[in-house]
Amino acid sequence: MVDSALQPVYDKVMAGERLTFEDGIRLFESNDILTIGEMAHYVRLQKNGLKTYFTMNQHINPTNICRNECLFCAFYRKEDQDGAYRMSLDAVRQKVLERINEPITEIHIVGGLDDGLPYDYYIDVIRTVKEVRPKVNIKAYTAVEIAYLAERSGKSWCEVLDDLIEAGLNAMPGGGAEVFSERVKRKLFMDKLSADDWIAIHKLAHSKGIRTNATLLYGHIEKDEEKIEHLIRLRNLQDETGGFLTFLPLAFHPENTRLARLPMATGFEDLKHIAVSRLMLDNFEHIKAYWVMLGVDLAQIALSFGADDIDGSVVEEKIYHMAGSKSSQMMTRNQLKQLIQECGFIPVERDALYHEINSEISEIAG
Ligand code: SF4
Repeated sequence: MVDSALQPVYDKVMAGERLTFEDGIRLFESNDILTIGEMAHYVRLQKNGLKTYFTMNQHINPTNICRNECLFCAFYRKEDQDGAYRMSLDAVRQKVLERINEPITEIHIVGGLDDGLPYDYYIDVIRTVKEVRPKVNIKAYTAVEIAYLAERSGKSWCEVLDDLIEAGLNAMPGGGAEVFSERVKRKLFMDKLSADDWIAIHKLAHSKGIRTNATLLYGHIEKDEEKIEHLIRLRNLQDETGGFLTFLPLAFHPENTRLARLPMATGFEDLKHIAVSRLMLDNFEHIKAYWVMLGVDLAQIALSFGADDIDGSVVEEKIYHMAGSKSSQMMTRNQLKQLIQECGFIPVERDALYHEINSEISEIAG
């Protein structure tokens, strides 16, 4: 161990004890990335052994027109801006049909808060996808979109979730949390829902049996204290509901945003956020190294720094690519398996709810 300040944290991790706020700060303040990684890898092995999860998935972003103007977002457009788009339900149907012969088990749907679309459109997107591919799990709409739909329709969050579940919603992504900090919210995403509301919507979804993911957006103006508070709030909710499936630390990509002057998070920071998340979130089963964001090379290394999931085949990713991501937009099942095996781990295909899938059977079922 290079940084002796980590010794008390190391002892706690080996003893299976929960880390405190102060422990989290100590981890972020340390540059001893190998010791931090070693601890995170130990926890990963305790929870998942050598298993590394991936999924065959498809992303659909039905609209990029958004009433908000979050400073870190390269995805949104105003209605009259170049590049603005809004998919018809037929176009959504077509998008699903394009890949109907592939063994996809998860369709991930998020988009802008588009005042030009009626409430029913958002519900019908889910219904349309389910009609074309009844067996897929639909992981759709962040808490930000749920709150927006409630505001637009005059319905409660509860009623919106019920409408979505009735249409075929199976799970929710973790986006929109950014960092639970009023200070950062005021500066970067003024119009988004509050941390309390994000937590309340996920709690409500969990109470309805909808499993959700959680995220943290790092690499902008946030402070270590705010990130640790964020992780502890998620951990507290997980203690209460057990409804989170996985945690995904998301690096801010400044290109094409109004914060383009900020440097991009380095590989060192990416690995540290994955490892610290693994260590703080002792009640989350999974930590994801999103290969689209990290690039394949770093995602492979992240598997030894606490991550046990690399997301999926994806094919068409807009949110990170509009922010300058240079990674490919698709990987085949064999490529995903190979990149996991190369690092000495065992690839396990999963669906959106982490049910393990027998590849050979799903290939036949489609
Ligand atoms: S992050 Fe979401 S809410 Fe904010 S501008 Fe982008 S699409 Fe809109």
